[in-house]
Amino acid sequence: MDKYAGIMLDHIPAGVALFDARDLRLLAANKLFYRFFQMHHVPSWDAETVIGHTLTQWLPAADPTGAAALIAIFRGVAETGIPYQTEEFAAPVFNPGPMYWNWSLHPVRNEHGHIVQLIFHGSEVTVRQQAAFVHARLHAAVEDERAQLRAILDQLPEGILLVEATDGNISYANASAATILGIPVQDLVGVSFHQHTRNHPLNDVHVRQALPWNFVVINALLGKTASSQETVVVKPDGNTLIMLSSSAPLHNEGGSITGAVIVFQDITAQKMIEQEKNAFLSLAGHELRTPITAIMGFAEILQLKEAHNESLDPFSQRAIAQIAAQCDQLARLVEEMLDLTRLENAQLALDCTLHDLHSTLKKVIESQEITAGRHSIRLVLKGLAATDMLIGYFDEQRVMQIMNNLITNAIKYSPDSSEIEVGLQRTPEYPDEALIWVRDHGIGIPPDEAHLIFQRFHRASNLNKSMSGLGLGLYLVKELVTRHEGRVWVESTEGEGSTFYVLLPLKQKLTSCAK
Ligand code: ADP
Repeated sequence: MDKYAGIMLDHIPAGVALFDARDLRLLAANKLFYRFFQMHHVPSWDAETVIGHTLTQWLPAADPTGAAALIAIFRGVAETGIPYQTEEFAAPVFNPGPMYWNWSLHPVRNEHGHIVQLIFHGSEVTVRQQAAFVHARLHAAVEDERAQLRAILDQLPEGILLVEATDGNISYANASAATILGIPVQDLVGVSFHQHTRNHPLNDVHVRQALPWNFVVINALLGKTASSQETVVVKPDGNTLIMLSSSAPLHNEGGSITGAVIVFQDITAQKMIEQEKNAFLSLAGHELRTPITAIMGFAEILQLKEAHNESLDPFSQRAIAQIAAQCDQLARLVEEMLDLTRLENAQLALDCTLHDLHSTLKKVIESQEITAGRHSIRLVLKGLAATDMLIGYFDEQRVMQIMNNLITNAIKYSPDSSEIEVGLQRTPEYPDEALIWVRDHGIGIPPDEAHLIFQRFHRASNLNKSMSGLGLGLYLVKELVTRHEGRVWVESTEGEGSTFYVLLPLKQKLTSCAK
């Protein structure tokens, strides 16, 4: 047993030693204890020779104060019987770097209850201690960084909220979020975002268009990222607020969604201005329509009279033709303006029925040819014959408007060339869609502006002053194509010409169609 006990003691990962309780003589120790004891720099004794000697004999040399404190601890346990336990990591020793030991001292009593021996037990915890130091340092660094980030976020004019995926609670709100929502930070944080989202009244055109605020949060928690969405919030005082919100899910390392971040700004004031601008444009548009119709009507009567041999002098003929052409142009601009206001007020619904796209295009080309002057418009068919129909479900008036806008532009922006190509392609692999294109050999579009021309009011920098327009046509084209769930894009080389493509779905029930 003794032999095995010795093997056991020498191999347990702890230093163990037995002391006489009266004079603190070392009676027995395992190998690891000597390691601990060597750490205390006891140069004149080597490990094995300390057996049989008292602590007072072999400890003091290098560090008399430390040794005295240690001896006092041993004496205390021997006298009181109260075991001693170091505080965690309380015993750094140097060899040559710091090493940390946790140790304890317990009394051993004889059958009469007298303390006869003291048993020492110590284990090295340097790695654990160092990990704890590193952890503490990292923690402090992270906290510092977090504080810095919060200070920055609190200075931003945009509101920022973090929502937890587990319970929908708001875990962070910056100062602007509190100001915009009209709720103090302390009432926002720790509370479910549902509590702050009340149903909004549908009494205002912009509010009607905006999504409820909780919608973007829920979407983000479901993993969807959204940018620049108009959302609506009802403040605690009952006022309604329109916000421009962006939201995104937050993931942990494993890829699971842990929460959502929502960034928003108050755009109520801008919306009010926009609303007033739209109201003005709509009013002006409607007021302008009446006189234009009247002028156009009279110009047409004069043209008819001329046709009925009530001959006019050549100048008057030209003047009347000019009046009619300019009126036409003016009427188109006014319609663009009105369409813009309808789009922005969400009043532009499609009226879709089944039509033959081929004949729709032919109608557009015929009417365009009347005013095309020296430009010729050629219809090119791919994947269908001249007599084939291409039936689709679309709003014919709006598709004609799309085509008219593209062809008018092709004519307007190709002053030095005369050929315009309108194409229609059906691909057997994609029977539910048609590709339409309008190609000109005109001025083209500067490469860095091609992505901008579909935006409202954007006109490219290569136009000359005689090319009039509001910069609304392509914006309307894009909106109308998008409402048909199609796509529009352009390929262009500056100085050589442009081709506008429209991919139009044919056989689906569209959500934006009225019926
Ligand atoms: P507008 O023609 O009234 O300016 P649009 O929205 O129809 O407005 O077009 C926006 C801009 O795109 C035009 O101002 C022009 O710079 C460019 N653009 C449109 N069509 C063409 C084209 N076929 N060729 C060259 N540039 C074009």
